[in-house]
Amino acid sequence: MLETARNIVQEAGKKLGYSAQVIDTLLQPNRVIEVKVSIPTKTGERVFTGYRSQHNNRRGPYKGGIRFHPQVSREEVLALSTLMSIKCAVAGIPFGGAKGGIIVDPKELSKKELEQLSRSYVRALFPVIGPRVDVPAPDVNTNPLIMQWMLDEYEKLAGQAAPATFTGKPVEKGGSLGRTEATGRGGVIVLKALLSKLGKELKNKNPTFTKVMAGNAKLTVAVQGFGNVGYYFAKIAVEEGFDVVAVSDSKGGIVKNAKLNNAGKHFEPLDIPLVMGCKKKQGTLAGCYCSGGVCDINEGKVITNEQLLELPVDILVPAALENVITEKNAHKIQAKIVVEMANGPIAKEAYPILQKRGIYVIPDVLANAGGVVVSYFEWVQGMKGTVWSEAKVNKKMQDLLEESALAVWEQAKKSHVSLKEAAFMVAVRRLVEPKS
Ligand code: GLU
Repeated sequence: MLETARNIVQEAGKKLGYSAQVIDTLLQPNRVIEVKVSIPTKTGERVFTGYRSQHNNRRGPYKGGIRFHPQVSREEVLALSTLMSIKCAVAGIPFGGAKGGIIVDPKELSKKELEQLSRSYVRALFPVIGPRVDVPAPDVNTNPLIMQWMLDEYEKLAGQAAPATFTGKPVEKGGSLGRTEATGRGGVIVLKALLSKLGKELKNKNPTFTKVMAGNAKLTVAVQGFGNVGYYFAKIAVEEGFDVVAVSDSKGGIVKNAKLNNAGKHFEPLDIPLVMGCKKKQGTLAGCYCSGGVCDINEGKVITNEQLLELPVDILVPAALENVITEKNAHKIQAKIVVEMANGPIAKEAYPILQKRGIYVIPDVLANAGGVVVSYFEWVQGMKGTVWSEAKVNKKMQDLLEESALAVWEQAKKSHVSLKEAAFMVAVRRLVEPKS
């Protein structure tokens, strides 16, 4: 992952005409800190390893999430902090990039232990974080409650209120309205902004897009992943006029009236909030088909995660794991547009295959930037001691992301590169020349 992130930055830098020295300097993280974190037990301390990588702060304080996962490593947080620098720069917000993590399986810990671990991590990092230094947020397996514990520990040590030190807090503890939905909502905003451009390109090449552009059809969407990001993407996409016809979680997914081999087939839309209600009741999505208030296993068809990726839909949204589209299945993808809502869902080798097949990829650093954009709004509210309405948050996010999507589109046209390369070019230029 680190190699891939570095390669794209290098390519973008080269295309912009920067010297190897300038790019190498940009790639070098400012610092990667390794800390011991522990929880007390009856027989002594149980020790874990934690990291915080602070990649770049030329545009503003470091910003990025903290993940709790057994696969966390120095390389992983470093790569992800580099991508945070890129993401903040693409979104045009005044933050640099950081990422943190603890090597731990949080499912093995009690709530009390999780709190002790979170507080211990903050004690270890206290000297290097703060509202004007480094502002962490939730990431994989961390949530608003964990941010609340972390902020409380920070404020105790600082001896003062400092709510802007963490974002993604619970709303009643200074979190921003709209933060929970922000990543999913941002993805739909970016998709719509680029569709107004892509639709015109696809119109004469593709019968569905011709119909959609004429207002005679809706675009169909399949979403892999039904966590916070996937769920809100699906829900908001329906509100914005898309037909979400397939969703899945780690155990599998559902479609209604699936004809898996018929490329011309239009699937029937799902009622996303009802499907979520069913998942909550049954524990998994596979087996949850809901319509008109009734959840009926017989109406829907259960599909695997692999099948979902290969469905004949217009738009595919991998919103769960890394590397789910690989060189093995890239030639089977039937969607015309892939929106990367997860971080890195398309393996490096799969990109050229999709590109050759004329499939557009909306890159993760743009598509899932809504989360950090609303984190920025939360930071502003914390610094000023004000509270914005949800409507204000959503409108400001929309303006920012539409502007970012347009900048990426124009770069792609100007330099004849993919949207991914264009996003990195926009970001690298803004990182090397912060005033640009
Ligand atoms: N963890 C999220 C991301 O990777 C949010 C980071 C933030 O809000 O600082 O974009």
